[in-house]
Amino acid sequence: MSIVPDLFPLPRMSEDARLAAVQRYDILDTPREPAFDRIASLIRMVFGVETSVVSIMDAHRQWYKASEGTPHCEVPIGETFCRYAMDGTEPLVVPDATEDERFCDSPHVTAPSGVRFYASVPLTTADGFNVGTICAIDSRPRQFSEREVTILRQLAQIAVDELELRRMATTDGLTGISTRRAFREDAEKYLSHSRRHRTQLSALTFDIDRFKTINDTYGHAAGDAVLKAVVKATGSLLRQSDSFGRLGGEEFAVIMPDTDPGAAMAVAEKLRHAILDLHFPGSRPALTVSASFGIAAFDPGQDDYDSLMLKADEALYEAKGSGRNKCLPWRGTTLATTRQVERRRVLKSGKLVFNDRRSVIDCTVRALWENGAEVLLTSSADVPDVLTLEVPSSNARWEARVDIRRPNSLELSLA
Ligand code: GH3
Ligand code: MG
Ligand code: MG
Repeated sequence: MSIVPDLFPLPRMSEDARLAAVQRYDILDTPREPAFDRIASLIRMVFGVETSVVSIMDAHRQWYKASEGTPHCEVPIGETFCRYAMDGTEPLVVPDATEDERFCDSPHVTAPSGVRFYASVPLTTADGFNVGTICAIDSRPRQFSEREVTILRQLAQIAVDELELRRMATTDGLTGISTRRAFREDAEKYLSHSRRHRTQLSALTFDIDRFKTINDTYGHAAGDAVLKAVVKATGSLLRQSDSFGRLGGEEFAVIMPDTDPGAAMAVAEKLRHAILDLHFPGSRPALTVSASFGIAAFDPGQDDYDSLMLKADEALYEAKGSGRNKCLPWRGTTLATTRQVERRRVLKSGKLVFNDRRSVIDCTVRALWENGAEVLLTSSADVPDVLTLEVPSSNARWEARVDIRRPNSLELSLA
């Protein structure tokens, strides 16, 4: 948009360094937050467009932190317009996508009431990484003035400032307990203390059952009230020395120092009953809440924070699968966890290649180990059991076989 030539063009960002910047904000897959909702709402109001998005770019998807006017919460990166806005600092303005050769064949454009107008500005961090975009979208073509571009840029700056604030926050705005990031920092300290002094330590995670139904039946504000009530009821039962955090929407975790697995199970049962005993006078039909719990004991020789939480999560997952509203200990059965310790956590952009190279799916490589990898992707449904994994930034290529298939991730054996 500027007529002054760029005297100091930015070097093309390394995708790995960009992903590390994304990781720093620890925001992917976190719940809605009013600050970002407000920006999405402003975009729609100020420009009078149908759809607005505040998004973060993973290696394989554009994930929506906030949006209005669209049922989606993420889009595979290959299908996005925004990837064209991600390489520089300039906005992308497409007045009519049907007349733009980059986009006219896109299924999002050719669909009935498809995208015609698109304006997007990257979310650029102070150190120059584009972690996401904000977008104004409409099914009618339109012009976007210089002044409007400036407004969209300012809104992008507000979004980046919010990301920074949130990164520094240690307390969750809704419930008053630790944020995921602060919880992790606390937990790491407890873990090293327990390792050094050879004391016992346990972790539990819990997740409210059928919370989506609660939101759908009683409304989002009632859902928020339930979250607050759950934290108040359970937090009062914990010890001063326990660390309590909100890991995601309706998912919580507790680290209990000096606590053996039996005692941890007793705590979990107490919390579970406290949640069942909650009453919400005036709710019709009468609102009842339950939660499922997973408990794991810290193994000082084997575990780090991630593997401990993964164990608790696996137990929680089992509790969900076997009827909900129960507490289960981790039983040490899964392949995933026994291998967890040797895993090197990475964040690289990867490609899954199959069907004689005719099919290529973007993925995010989250972990690598001697002969395996864990990758995240938008959908594992169409991926065959045998394929090739490529990591361009490392110049690496492996023949791979799918060991574990989850809806949005795969564990691969690499040859
Ligand atoms: P399950 O028993 O398997 O855990 O089912 P669920 O419905 O609890 O789980 P799911 O993950 O499908 O839904 C969680 C819902 O929580 C989806 C999301 O809209 C909602 N949510 C996340 N954060 C918040 C929040 O801060 N406030 C409110 N009211 N809802 C939230
Ligand atoms: Mg739930
Ligand atoms: Mg959940």
